Amino acid sequence: MSENPPLSSSPSPELAEVLKGARACHLCEEHLPLGPRPVLRAQSSARVMIVGQAPGTKVHESGIPWNDASGDRLREWLDLDSDSFYDDGRIAIVPMGFCYPGRNPKGGDNPPRPECAPLWHPPLRAALPNVELILLVGQYAQGFYLGKSKKKTLTETVRNWREYQPDFLPTPHPSWRSTMWLKKNPWFEKEVLPELRLRVKALI
Ligand code: SF4
Repeated sequence: MSENPPLSSSPSPELAEVLKGARACHLCEEHLPLGPRPVLRAQSSARVMIVGQAPGTKVHESGIPWNDASGDRLREWLDLDSDSFYDDGRIAIVPMGFCYPGRNPKGGDNPPRPECAPLWHPPLRAALPNVELILLVGQYAQGFYLGKSKKKTLTETVRNWREYQPDFLPTPHPSWRSTMWLKKNPWFEKEVLPELRLRVKALI
């Protein structure tokens, strides 16, 4: 394992350029009921990247990613306190869609806007050369980063987590909906979480 790079409190010029562009993005504003408000954070020294779905209304209002019940559960999965979780010199937080995508009439939020990740993830990833582990939180992140190696269902993809090591670690989304999933799949807490905690602790 490589040594930890020095922590950066400001982004490299390359990363600063990408962050500036992403934070000013209006590409899909016609589809965003609350307008564009990209929520992402990263510094060049980050070694872990968390790729979630898209902000909910609470995150949209605060501008703080994972500032909700799902974030509490994700921090518990990672065994990290808020200070460590929000240290963007160690952990980059980059969802599949940076802006709140609105409500689905059938319940829940809409999926991340499909325009977002193809436009912004490749340049962000290129500007984060120290990232050694990408946490793929939910089916959208898994579809984008794993491509054809993603399995037919989220459960199968997560069950085969070893296949994607060391670059990726897939997890379900830690929303309230995952409570039942966790009960049905106790191997996740027994096998995956201990490895996830070890990897993250070693990297940050
Ligand atoms: S969701 Fe992504 S593509 Fe759409 S406006 Fe926000 S940053 Fe731009």
